[in-house]
Amino acid sequence: QLNVVWFRNDLRAYDNAVLDSAVEHSTRNGSPLVALFIATPDSWQQHDMALIKQDLIRRRVMQLKTELAVLNIPLIAVEGNDYKQVGEVFVQLVKHYKLSVFVQREYELREQLRDKQVETILVDSGGQYIEFDTQCIMPPGSVRTQQGDIYKVFTPFKRNWLAALKQHGVRCYPKPKPLAINTIVLPEFDEMQSGDNSSAAWSVDEVEVLGKMRQFCQEKVGAYHTARDFPAIDGTSLLSAYLAIGVISPAQCVARLQIEAKDSWQSDKSGAEIWLSELIWREFYKHILVAYPNLIKHKPFQSETDGIRWSNNEALFKAWCEGQTGFPIVDAAMRQLNKTGWMHNRLRMITASFLVKDLHIDWRWGERYFMSKLIDGDFAANNGGWQWAASTGTDAAPYFRIFNPVSQSEKFDPQGEFIRLYVPELSKLQGKAIHWPHSLGGVKSYFSPVVDHATARKHTLEIFAEVKKSA
Ligand code: FAD
Repeated sequence: QLNVVWFRNDLRAYDNAVLDSAVEHSTRNGSPLVALFIATPDSWQQHDMALIKQDLIRRRVMQLKTELAVLNIPLIAVEGNDYKQVGEVFVQLVKHYKLSVFVQREYELREQLRDKQVETILVDSGGQYIEFDTQCIMPPGSVRTQQGDIYKVFTPFKRNWLAALKQHGVRCYPKPKPLAINTIVLPEFDEMQSGDNSSAAWSVDEVEVLGKMRQFCQEKVGAYHTARDFPAIDGTSLLSAYLAIGVISPAQCVARLQIEAKDSWQSDKSGAEIWLSELIWREFYKHILVAYPNLIKHKPFQSETDGIRWSNNEALFKAWCEGQTGFPIVDAAMRQLNKTGWMHNRLRMITASFLVKDLHIDWRWGERYFMSKLIDGDFAANNGGWQWAASTGTDAAPYFRIFNPVSQSEKFDPQGEFIRLYVPELSKLQGKAIHWPHSLGGVKSYFSPVVDHATARKHTLEIFAEVKKSA
């Protein structure tokens, strides 16, 4: 008998119900416990996972190995290639042991197929597969309308989610106590390789990450509602990469928020309340993904929008990807993404809107590009964000709401500080010119605008009106 905690998107030792249960099981039965992680770079690439995210995962797994060693839990980090090979690892293990495998549920299609295959291998060999639905505080399917339906609109979902929080509270598991030392002989597997260190700017120490979260709740959340829209201000938590791979849990965030921000808690418009809303958006998109698996196949939520005839101009797409559109805020944002692997939320909205509604390029091209670059790439949040911006999703921005990139720039980067950081060609410009340098005859070293916003806007209204009419 061997217990296995199979780590995937829950790479933490604190508040990990999966680990907690496995330790409890092992203590109760006196049977040994190992932790397992299987790197699958081919499958990651198939899912467009950014190299920087892959590196963050590899670094975090190595750190987790050290943290678990203190608990006398050996972590076996295997270098595999794809999800098919994951099954082979378990086939090897069941030859030697009857396994009880503890995992956190994943919602995406290929991951579910992988897990089904592993479950079958285990059950056929007399073992068991024990799954925990812990990616969200409220598991998908648990927040429903009075008629039992899934919410398609955020505001009532949030109301109901908050009612459930009030009723059940939020529970965080402590880090398990060390196990008695046990010796386990396992088959030889290829050891996981280290990454390219491209994510080195992001700490992978769990305690340090928890400290960052606590500090944000103590010092910054109070001003979150006013600061969060300004990319030049360090006003958001920068926790998305850690939430995406589970270095911290949403429950830890909400529990800490309730402690630190209890004074401002009651006001609807407080920083704490708005930050909590963002964590609820994260859950909303996961609930939607589970309820509408077609989204995983990149289908639009509003099916009639599948009929839109996008222009899909390759040269324009390349200009957008490389931050060479001649629209300073768009270019600064895309260069931030390419350089750092992260982009501010306001800028994700501006650049997504620009790709779809100014360049008339299929939102799925942008979704894929973001995924291939983001350190916090998360299917549900990325798909939800893109479909929101493209007006094809649930609770999406109405199609006639089209961001003007220049007024967005004037409003959210009024001094041009953010633009100056990433578009050095414009750093000498003063005043409003930084938002639209072209009226002065342009800056030689900078790009000419690739489209005329007013004309592009008109065309967007037409293409959407056409599909809405025929719906
Ligand atoms: P904070 O403002 O501090 O928010 C706290 C946490 O709430 C975030 O870490 C994140 O986990 C969650 N969150 C915040 N906003 C959203 C949102 N709109 N939807 C879902 N969850 C949210 N977020 C990702 O985590 N991964 C993605 O791949 C992703 N792609 C996006 C693509 C587009 C086009 C858009 C418009 C948004 C996308 N977002 C994505 C949401 C959001 O931009 C990021 O979560 C946020 O910028 C991360 O910064 P932060 O950690 O400082 O967030």
